[in-house]
Order: sequence, then structure tokens, then C-alpha cells
Amino acid sequence: MTRISISRRGFTGSLLAATALSACAVQSEAPAKARVVVIGGGFGGATAAKFLRLEDPGISVTLIEPKSEFQTCPGSNYVLGGLKRMSDITHTYAAMTGRHGVRHVRDMAVAVDPVTRTVRTAGGQSFGYDRLVVSPGIDIRWGAINGYDEAASLRMPHSWQAGPQTVLLRQQLEAMPDGGVVALSIPANPFRCPPGPYERISMIANYLKTTKPRSKILALDSKDAFSKQPLFQDGWAALYPGLIEWVPLGKDGKIVEVVPGEMTLVSEFGQKHKVAVANVIPPQFAGKIARDAGLANEQGWCPVDPFTFESQRHKAIHVIGDASIAGAMPKSGFAASSQAKFVARAIAASINGQPAEAPVYANTCYSLVGPDYGISVADIYRSTAQGIVAVQGAGGVSPRTPPDAPAHRHLEAVYTHGWYASATREIWGS
Ligand SMILES: Cc1cc2nc3c(=O)[nH]c(=O)nc-3n(C[C@H](O)[C@H](O)[C@H](O)COP(=O)(O)OP(=O)(O)OC[C@H]3O[C@@H](n4cnc5c(N)ncnc54)[C@H](O)[C@@H]3O)c2cc1C
Repeated sequence: MTRISISRRGFTGSLLAATALSACAVQSEAPAKARVVVIGGGFGGATAAKFLRLEDPGISVTLIEPKSEFQTCPGSNYVLGGLKRMSDITHTYAAMTGRHGVRHVRDMAVAVDPVTRTVRTAGGQSFGYDRLVVSPGIDIRWGAINGYDEAASLRMPHSWQAGPQTVLLRQQLEAMPDGGVVALSIPANPFRCPPGPYERISMIANYLKTTKPRSKILALDSKDAFSKQPLFQDGWAALYPGLIEWVPLGKDGKIVEVVPGEMTLVSEFGQKHKVAVANVIPPQFAGKIARDAGLANEQGWCPVDPFTFESQRHKAIHVIGDASIAGAMPKSGFAASSQAKFVARAIAASINGQPAEAPVYANTCYSLVGPDYGISVADIYRSTAQGIVAVQGAGGVSPRTPPDAPAHRHLEAVYTHGWYASATREIWGS
């Protein structure tokens, strides 16, 4: 008997028990095979909600998400660089609620009771569930950097959740004088989107190069190495010579304090950097609802069964996306969506008394180094009893020296936009 089938049997059994239990749940709804509640309408949650309905329209799916439209972090670096507008990265739930029959509750989930299997919202509603999918993304760890709280983020935006923070940083870049320094403070692992800060550096560099060429970028990093590092650094040398200074942990790159009133960043060993614009990307943890529901560990991330993404803390709750501990998988939108599709399939199979397939996940992270210069990293993952691992030899990164480099980088830039269009259409589109 393999680890997968043992897990599946338990999965099905606990679902049937849950279905019986939920007869006493608070919210009364039209008869359905089973009720699934999804918390969070981002990459993980929106995918799960839609694909649950595609898998089996007999399952009632309630998506709890306060926003009426979702602005994606993918693409937000292009807004900062002036390549895209906010409207280009904004998506609605119209297709999901209209065509796919997902019930969208515009409210914030504030409590989960794993015993009675109910979710309570800020607006005072309660929803019973047979299965709960939790995909609330990340929260900022306010105070992890001394002086960095919500008020400080209005002066030194993190822009790590797309929306007003993205707009604010773009406005600051537009307003800064030519010759100013733009600093980024970059966290240690794990954090949302490992290549994200370096794509951001690239996009800001592209903007400065074309509009404020005497300016500089100071990238202050809490790590000594980063995702796609040689590819990024090759691109910076080719496209933005002398514009970017990257300071690793080993050279006192870690920022431990900010003084927003003086626009100053203070390093671990006391260096003070006074800058024109400061993009502080702080340490993060799982979204509040996941932590409040007791789904997270001491580090603030949620341990899950690698085969089902079912919480290791509470039965019948699946935590996916950035909030989960997904082994070798990065905290990316692609990964969250890949996990969500499998979890939707596994939940539907379980409801219908069918065996689940062995999970295989995928991720590709495209990054633009320049408007016409794309790079990528791709991987395939499988579940083992020890966790989720990358399949050796099944992925890879862009070559450093392809035979026709300009054509290669151009094509990867085209694919970058192609991935975004197809991914967002698959999730929020028809
Ligand atoms: C600058 C940047 C660039 C990126 N680029 C890429 C890229 O190119 N490719 C890629 O694959 N990934 C990229 N990412 C990463 C990607 O954005 C995240 O990994 C992805 O959004 C994670 O999906 P999620 O479902 O976990 O969280 P999210 O997509 O953030 O969704 C969480 C949702 O949950 C809702 N929510 C939170 N709490 C509650 C609650 N209590 N009740 C109800 N709703 C709640 C929120 O409102 C939000 O809508 C990037 C990230 C950044 C910051």
C-alpha cells in the first residue's frame, strides 16, 4: 500500500464524517452534494473555487473575499516601471459568480471553528463547510524591522500586496528628483515571490535609466544569494551599467531599523542610508485568518500534508498558496494555482467516492529584466512522505549564454506576458 492510497482513504473517510456533521451547520443552503468554503479570492483561492465548480457543479462553493476586484502582484512591478497600468492587472469575479456559479461573499473571514466546521465573517455571517480551503496569502510582519509599522509603510511603501501600495511607490518614483537614490530592503527566505524583488530592481532601473539617468538603486539584501542571480546580474550589467548596487547580507545588507521621518534605513552594523525613495519589503507570514485559526506553526507558516494540502493542525481544512509550507515549491501565483487545481480535483474526487490522482505540481516564474529581456525558472514537483520535492531534470533556468541571446531574451519577454494573460484568464476569466 503506497503512502498516497493510505492518505486518500483517510481523506475520503474524514470527508464523509464531515458531511454528516455539517447537517447541523449554521448556514442553510440549497441541497448540494457537499459544501466547500474558500477563504481568499487570489491566485490560490480563486482557482480552487472555479475548479471545484468545473470538477463537479453539484458541489456548492462559497468564496469569502472582501474585494470586488483583485489586483495581481504579478505585473505590479511593470506598473512601477511604467510598462503597465493598474487597470491591466485588475480582474473581477464576474465570470466566477456568473458562468461558474460560485457564491462570492464580500466579507472578511474572522474565525474558523474546526469542530463545528463553520467560518464566521466580520459582517456577522456564518458558513458551514464540509471542506474548507484557506488561501489568504501573506501578511506583513509589522515591527520585524524596527520602526516599520503601517504608518511607516505610507512613507516607505512595501508594495508587496498589489493595490494602493503599488500606486504609492510609483508616485514616489515619479516625484523623486533626478540624481536621487532608490533603496530596496529585501527580506530573508521564505517570502512571497523569490525573484520578485530583483525583477522590481530591474523595472525601477529601466524607469530611472530612461527618465532620471543620474539616479541610483541601492538594493539592501538580508541574503547572500537570490533566485536567478547570475541571469539578473548579467542583465543588469548589460542594460543598466553602474546604476544598481546590490549589497548582500555578508556586506551588511540587512536592514534592521527605519526612520521614516528622515527617510533613513539602518543596517545591522549601524550604517545609515538616507535615500529619496525607500521600498521596504519586510519579513512576512501567513495571512491572519490562517494564524488565528491555529493553522500556522511558530514561524507563522502552515504545515500541510504534502499529498492533499490538508492542514496538519485541523482536519477538513486545506491550506494552499503562500500561507502553506509547500516544500520545494516557491511562494508564487503559478504554484498557488497549481496546488489549487489539484486540491479541487482531490476534494471533488473524495466527495464522489473516487480515488484521487497522485499529485504533480508545476511552477514557472518569468521575470522581465528589461522590457524586451525575459528570463525564467521552471520546475515540476511531486509529493513524498518527507514533503514536496522538485523532480530532478524536469525543469531548469534560462541559459546564461544562448546562441542568439537577444532573440532568446525577447522570446522569454513575450512568454512573460503570455503566461500572465493565460493564467489570469484561466482564473478570473471565462
Ligand atoms: C512584486 C510581486 C511580483 C510577483 N510576480 C509573480 C509572477 O510573476 N508569477 C507568479 O507566479 N507569482 C508572482 N508573485 C507571487 C504571487 O503574487 C503570490 O505568490 C500569490 O498571489 C499567492 O497566492 P495566494 O492565493 O496565496 O494569495 P493572494 O493571491 O494574495 O490572495 C489572497 C487573497 O485572500 C484574501 N484574504 C486574506 N485574508 C482574508 C480573510 N480573512 N477573509 C477573506 N479573504 C481574505 C485577500 O484579500 C486576497 O485577495 C509576485 C508577487 C509580488 C509581490
